[in-house]
Parts: sequence; structure tokens; C-alpha cells
Amino acid sequence: MNEKTLRNVLEGIKLDLYVESKIPEMHVCFLCGRIGYKNLPMKKIGNKWICIDCLRELKEALDSLEEWEQEISLREELKKQIQREFEGKE
Ligand SMILES: [Zn+2]
Repeated sequence: MNEKTLRNVLEGIKLDLYVESKIPEMHVCFLCGRIGYKNLPMKKIGNKWICIDCLRELKEALDSLEEWEQEISLREELKKQIQREFEGKE
């Protein structure tokens, strides 16, 4: 093995070790698929990692959940009324 090959092999090993040492800090966001590293804060929820951006969107969705539920039940109620009207005509 010549010196150049040996150096390439050594560089390869160093790179592998570097990547391995970084893996525990890297996580893939369960929702958007982005890789979280120090620049993208992430939180573990259950056994899934979720990034800060997706958590913000989730929070907004949860904050408006009550309003959303009211809209759904109103829609269901109107649907029932309309159905009753249709049935009454027959
Ligand atoms: Zn995300």
C-alpha cells in the first residue's frame, strides 16, 4: 500500500468516525422530513422527533381546535336539518 492510498483510507476512517459521532445529534422531523441538527431545534414526542417549525404549526392548530370543532358540529347540525327537510318532502 503506498502512502497516498494509506492517507485516503485514513481520511475515510476519520470521516466515518466524524459522521458516527454526529448521528446521535441528528434527527429527521416526523412531519416535514427535514433533518434537525443544532440549527433546527427538535423535540422528541413519543418516539418521534418533531422540529420547532412543525411544533409551532401544531400549536396553532391546537389553539384553533375549539373553533374548528364548533364549525364541524354546526355543519353536522345543518346537514341533519337539511336531511330532515328532504325526508319531509317525500
Ligand atoms: Zn418539521
